[in-house]
Amino acid sequence: MKTKVSRRTFLTSAIGAAIASTVPLAWKSSVVAQQTQSAPSSNAKFYRFKLGNFQMTSIEDGVFLNMPAKAFAGNATPAQLNEVLQQGSQSETLTLNCNILLVDTGTEKVLIDAGSGFLTEPTAGKLISNLQTLEIKPTDIDAIIITHAHVDHVGGLLNSTGALAFPQARYFVSKAEYDFWTSPEVNLPNVQVDEKTKQQFISIAQKCLGAIQNKVTRFEGEGEILPGFYAIPAPGHTPGQVAIRIVSGNESIIHTADVVHTHTINLWHPNWQPIFDADPDQAAATRQQILSAIADHRQLMYAYHFPFPGIGYLKSRAEEGFEWQPIK
Ligand SMILES: [Zn+2]
Repeated sequence: MKTKVSRRTFLTSAIGAAIASTVPLAWKSSVVAQQTQSAPSSNAKFYRFKLGNFQMTSIEDGVFLNMPAKAFAGNATPAQLNEVLQQGSQSETLTLNCNILLVDTGTEKVLIDAGSGFLTEPTAGKLISNLQTLEIKPTDIDAIIITHAHVDHVGGLLNSTGALAFPQARYFVSKAEYDFWTSPEVNLPNVQVDEKTKQQFISIAQKCLGAIQNKVTRFEGEGEILPGFYAIPAPGHTPGQVAIRIVSGNESIIHTADVVHTHTINLWHPNWQPIFDADPDQAAATRQQILSAIADHRQLMYAYHFPFPGIGYLKSRAEEGFEWQPIK
């Protein structure tokens, strides 16, 4: 049986349900909507930069609107959170970007993650239309490295009919991530959403990973995934999440996946816990460790969920945490 979450406010609803016990998600079962790929966007957002010999492009997959800020600070008090929101000139609902990094190595076009596709909200899933604006066809993509199997990162592996959206690509995911989601018994006891939402996360991960099962390389630990691409295990948000270090010539950048979600709450207070983290304590330790290394080494960073284009540096703050220094 084919199942597909309706293209509505998936994440916003999930978080809303978790926090306010409001409306549960609606699933459409048995029917996959016959949507067509949208036309190239006239206001496509992309940002090009060079990394050594690699041509890099940050492409906006879209945004999630009206995300409750509290979802990223599960263990903070309302007063603590309000103080951060005031300092950051933010409201109690946030806009969360989804940024896709395209790397043209000169011989291959490599994507880090694939966005939401048709599986979340209509404000996301713009990767393919934005690639079209860049005159890149889905069949031009040679490889996709998956940081972790949440819907906003793997939903775009599938097109509207459930077939592979990038049919020529090879796929790479950590063995720990693949094994976790595809095991017969998947449990998310510490994720603070309702049981139905958890089952949707699991179902979507299994569907997307299942679709690539004959084309996927499962890598373990640290090390080179492809020439110039190195895995950095980043467990906690999901058990097998990885950050990716990309190196060309004397230059490098670290794609931090969902080690950190917001450039205020989770950077200023790395120990505040997003409700989606599978192991909140491990995620906080990973966040502190990876962000400290990035700040200490003045390492260029790419952030999937930060304001577009998500490229910048970190500076340690005097009290705790880090300050985001975007390059533009
Ligand atoms: Zn994400």
